[in-house]
Amino acid sequence: MDGLPHALDEALLSDLECPSCMEYMVPPIKLCTNGHNICSKCRQKLQCCPTCTAGFLSTRNVALESIVRRQKYPCTNRQSGCLDLFSIEQIAEHQAACTYGPIKCPLTKVNVKCLWKGFKCYLEEHAIADHQAYIFRTSTFHPNRLTSGVAFVFCLGEAFLSYKGIRDGRFYCVVQLIGPSSQASKYKCKFKLHAANEIEGISKTFFVRSYEEDFETSFSSGKCLRLDDVVVRNFVVADEIKFTVTLSAVDLQC
Ligand SMILES: [Zn+2]
Ligand SMILES: [Zn+2]
Ligand SMILES: [Zn+2]
Ligand SMILES: [Zn+2]
Repeated sequence: MDGLPHALDEALLSDLECPSCMEYMVPPIKLCTNGHNICSKCRQKLQCCPTCTAGFLSTRNVALESIVRRQKYPCTNRQSGCLDLFSIEQIAEHQAACTYGPIKCPLTKVNVKCLWKGFKCYLEEHAIADHQAYIFRTSTFHPNRLTSGVAFVFCLGEAFLSYKGIRDGRFYCVVQLIGPSSQASKYKCKFKLHAANEIEGISKTFFVRSYEEDFETSFSSGKCLRLDDVVVRNFVVADEIKFTVTLSAVDLQC
């Protein structure tokens, strides 16, 4: 299989699973009197070792904890193409939002009623069939209405979600990759506002955010376009904001 960074040590990974809950053990890892490991959540719930029924020690398995912290874990959606590896701190959060498993229609994030659920590879097909009015297919696009608006952007071989809105007198615009944050940071988005006089303008560039976070989190991160409404009004002509967004890959050389 091409693209796998290293062959995963399946035997080691299965040793790092708790024998009771079968999840990867998050430190602190506790021991029974015969030396079997158990995760601390299960340790609290159980009276005796699930492997041998002996009692527990208060001792931690420090050597194994250190292996756990160094180990990188595969996502359960690896078969579907999620090839990233995650630290023990990241893996649970990632899996809860992994876009290689079935996802809900991303437009439901902004309360568009849609019951579609499926794999990301079928998303474009779904958007074309059911959300034709919400699609851009070029890396430079014009989300040109001042009111709140969401759109799919299919370009650069990826699927993005562009969202703009007004909160507390401020204009926000963010682009999220429908994928994990490790992939999102491979792309940047340039927001450009043009005045009718062709002289004034505002240009700001940010990394693309991940779809795994909600829009409010993106907005409050300070890492997306955020302008006072009064400033934005300078760029409105005939009720439309003169506004372009350009997506591109980040040059990893520099
Ligand atoms: Zn457990
Ligand atoms: Zn035991
Ligand atoms: Zn995943
Ligand atoms: Zn939908």
